[in-house]
Amino acid sequence: MITFEHVSKVYPDGTHAVHDLTFDAPSGRLTVLVGPSGCGKTTSMRMINRLIDPTEGVVSLDGEDTRSVDAIDLRRKIGYVIQSAGLFPHRTVVDNVAALPRLLGAGKKEARADALALLEKVGLDERYALRYPYQLSGGQQQRVGVARALATDPPFLLMDEPFSAVDPVVRTQLQDSFLQLQRDIGKTIVMVTHDIDEALKLGDRVAVFREGGTLAQVATPAELLAHPADPFVADFVGASRGYRALGFVEATATVRLAEEVTVRVGARPADVGGADPSTGSGQRDGWSVVVDDDGAPLGWVDLKATGEVVEERHIDFSGTVARADGSLRDLLDAALSSPTGRGLVAGPDGRLRGSVVADEVLRHLGRGREAEVAS
Ligand code: ADP
Ligand code: MG
Repeated sequence: MITFEHVSKVYPDGTHAVHDLTFDAPSGRLTVLVGPSGCGKTTSMRMINRLIDPTEGVVSLDGEDTRSVDAIDLRRKIGYVIQSAGLFPHRTVVDNVAALPRLLGAGKKEARADALALLEKVGLDERYALRYPYQLSGGQQQRVGVARALATDPPFLLMDEPFSAVDPVVRTQLQDSFLQLQRDIGKTIVMVTHDIDEALKLGDRVAVFREGGTLAQVATPAELLAHPADPFVADFVGASRGYRALGFVEATATVRLAEEVTVRVGARPADVGGADPSTGSGQRDGWSVVVDDDGAPLGWVDLKATGEVVEERHIDFSGTVARADGSLRDLLDAALSSPTGRGLVAGPDGRLRGSVVADEVLRHLGRGREAEVAS
């Protein structure tokens, strides 16, 4: 656990960067410091590994005051990832990752083998190992930066805007693969970002900073959305809070899914069971779900409108597909985006499980609220 107790930082020029900061970052969890630019996030983070010394207060690691530890020994326990990766430009990728273990006495062969394994863990295969940083994309460099910070297997990890310098698509990929990695490694992480959506997506806990380096609120993402402490936090967390909060409520097995008639591309509507809406059997309105050879849903088709054979051009791809083990927000979105109002739900294996309507999601949510009140 990383603990801040009444920590303040005043720079020599009189700038009050951080004011009376008290909070902790629990072990094995990812704590995000978020807030507008200049509100003291980086300063706070750098007081953990003593790149900056507090003017007042105590920062401790697992109960040990960081000032009582040699700064070099301290930093060995704390991996550090910065925005533009900060790689050594004249060393290959694998040697960037192996550099610190080598410095600490690891053999060359062993350090390289470990580095290759780590690179794979962060999603870079072997063919990148002998490249130089300038031969990688920004996103790939950032992955190397993460691997390098983990090379000595430190229990703590600090990350300052690690995913901010890349485009939104790559950023999403980096976030997803980092979440996956953290599930594996369970480090005690403090991450800085100015992006509230990133904070809510990645953080187990989120500390919201305001101008002047004061803490506005520390809470789980769901709590921040449901109960912002004041108008500043509410405004910073942003709009659509009710809908976004659904993203933190898991869809459980009690959400009722309806069965759907499925067809493949190439099928003849005349042969599809229950395809005639006048019979009232099978599907209700002539719309069926097109699935691929593995049973994964592709979209909807209106069998009344296809002619002889279902072709790919007949498929309506507009609906999102929710996962049965996803969130209520995913289920609701699937329902709202579906041309039939019935949201498609797939299992973890990708196969169609059935459909869900918005009312069923909302009914379920209502029940969750009642249970919360009752308990
Ligand atoms: P953030 O990471 O939230 O953008 P910083 O911690 O970098 O904010 O900075 C907090 C405040 O401290 C800002 O007003 C910044 O200008 C100021 N600051 C940062 N570093 C120094 C420094 N070395 N000397 C003086 N002021 C600084
Ligand atoms: Mg900063």
